[in-house]
Amino acid sequence: TAALYIVATPIGNLADISARAIEVLSSVDLIAAEDTRHSKYLLQHHGIQTSTISLHEHNEQQRSELLLARIAAGESIALISDAGTPLISDPGFRLVNMAREQGIKVIPIPGACAVITALSASGLSAERFAFEGFLPPKSTARRQVLEKLTNEPRTLIFYESPKRMVASLQDMLAVFGGERKACLARELTKMFETIVTLPLAELVEVVINDPNHQKGEIVLLIEGQSTVVDSDEAEQARVLQILLQEVP
Ligand code: SAM
Repeated sequence: TAALYIVATPIGNLADISARAIEVLSSVDLIAAEDTRHSKYLLQHHGIQTSTISLHEHNEQQRSELLLARIAAGESIALISDAGTPLISDPGFRLVNMAREQGIKVIPIPGACAVITALSASGLSAERFAFEGFLPPKSTARRQVLEKLTNEPRTLIFYESPKRMVASLQDMLAVFGGERKACLARELTKMFETIVTLPLAELVEVVINDPNHQKGEIVLLIEGQSTVVDSDEAEQARVLQILLQEVP
């Protein structure tokens, strides 16, 4: 039946794609890809012969209208991005939003996503987390965003470009202090995969002293603000418990 499939593709290692994703990409009428030349490599690797059309941030509105018209006419279309899960710091929001408003069936095919991959191996709490996407490129704006996050108890997760990583880490150190645990997850699923978790002050040192850490694709994670109850509150709670036990 006609539908829009949102299909996750690998974030580096070409084998990280589900059997279901390959089946869907092989059987749909058309694949909308962020960069058709980039995706050709993945599709060829898995023997997928479906034709492709581009959908990127500069043509999303107009392409979405065209694609939804084709689905309304009975075709099935899959959306993929250059890497990982579409819509996660990638195009596709307008397409999915319009599809839902038009009552078109949207079927997600789950798979790799750099946020989740990094979080799962970081050693930071994965109980609750806040994904912040990319930080602003300029330091002043970046610090303003970070300052709003200083009281956030959830694990903070950022995507960052290698060019700006040292500057961003230094801003994080200035805003959050050096004691929180921080994780640099680099080149996940690829040959030079590196995952380092250290107190923020030490991590900044390590990265500055090793230019290899300043290359490739990067996820940064910072421990949330500590939620340890302070001793006064803990003592009050203890006394309250004792008193409550005495209440008939
Ligand atoms: N849609 C993708 C996803 O599901 O993760 C993210 C797309 S976003 C445009 C690209 C950013 O994701 C990179 O700049 C980097 O911060 C992060 N990223 C993607 N692949 C990665 C990898 N293999 N290792 C570390 N970070 C990665």
